[in-house]
Amino acid sequence: MTQKKRIRIIYTGGTIGMVPGENGFAPDSGSFLRTLQSIPELSHPDMPDWDLVEFDPLLDSSDITVREWNMIGRAIAERYDDYDGFVVLHGTDTMAYSASALSFMLEGLNKPVVYTGAQIPLCQLRSDGRDNLITAMAIAASGRVHEVCLYFHGALLRGNRSTKLSSDRFTAFESPNAPHLADVGIVIQYNDAAILPPCEGPLHLQEFREIPIGVLKIFPGIQFDLFASIMTERLRGVVLETFGAGNIPSYGQALLPIIDKAYHSGTIITVCSQCLQGTVSLGAYAVSQPLQEVGAVSGRDMTTEAAVTKLYYLFSRDLTTGEIKAEMSRCLRGEMTL
Ligand code: ASP
Repeated sequence: MTQKKRIRIIYTGGTIGMVPGENGFAPDSGSFLRTLQSIPELSHPDMPDWDLVEFDPLLDSSDITVREWNMIGRAIAERYDDYDGFVVLHGTDTMAYSASALSFMLEGLNKPVVYTGAQIPLCQLRSDGRDNLITAMAIAASGRVHEVCLYFHGALLRGNRSTKLSSDRFTAFESPNAPHLADVGIVIQYNDAAILPPCEGPLHLQEFREIPIGVLKIFPGIQFDLFASIMTERLRGVVLETFGAGNIPSYGQALLPIIDKAYHSGTIITVCSQCLQGTVSLGAYAVSQPLQEVGAVSGRDMTTEAAVTKLYYLFSRDLTTGEIKAEMSRCLRGEMTL
């Protein structure tokens, strides 16, 4: 008889376990294990063995910070050898950030770490949480993926390629620049060509430090001088969310002196696109040329979530500015297309 797989469920909070209260939906400490035990499928003979660790306090994912990413990382790394895979239950609002963060943090990962959650709590009729959880468990036990991924409503996505698309549809996530790792219907159809090969290991947890990082979204008519005060040497990294293929307004030459100053004080400037699909191509248009000239790094087709968490990761490793710039341009965990 083959040995049953063992899965650890890490419950951080989020809608999946929330209950209605006076001020809207909020997490409820201590009741989630009972909720899971009342789901018959979770004790089905085909289910892997599982146990649960619950964060204290449970959080709406809007409140998740670097500290909780480190806690999730530790919950995995400290018991890595005891389980075949891990399911992280997390609020959907910042799930793509968290999955991206863990993909960088867990160096040498060769087991599945599957993020999931729900749009409707498990305690409510028509919850999507039950299905998301059961399938995430099956994926975590399958041994078919060896990376941090995100499962939601029929699609298994690479964690650091995913982004939240909808606040009210069951299909809440997509990975617009990367193929699905699996599509789930009657069978779980894995896309082996898209799945990262297993790492050699051993697992090493690179915890993140709280680094001052910013995201600046460009919009028509933006008054750049308003942002001069934040672009100081205190800001270690900034992700510019530009138009299209990496374009910024050129009126008044107002942005460049600010970026140039930030660059010379060691701030790493990474250029991402506001478009969900496609890539940054600095220099393709005249209006993006100056970004290249001031040494900005092209984030290519990385999501903002991946770019932000990659900056956290690289700054946490005490690399030089030159090394961080070089690593930002490399694909480390399948987060960008080269
Ligand atoms: N506000 C919730 C959260 O991110 C939304 C969700 O889980 O779907 O925690």
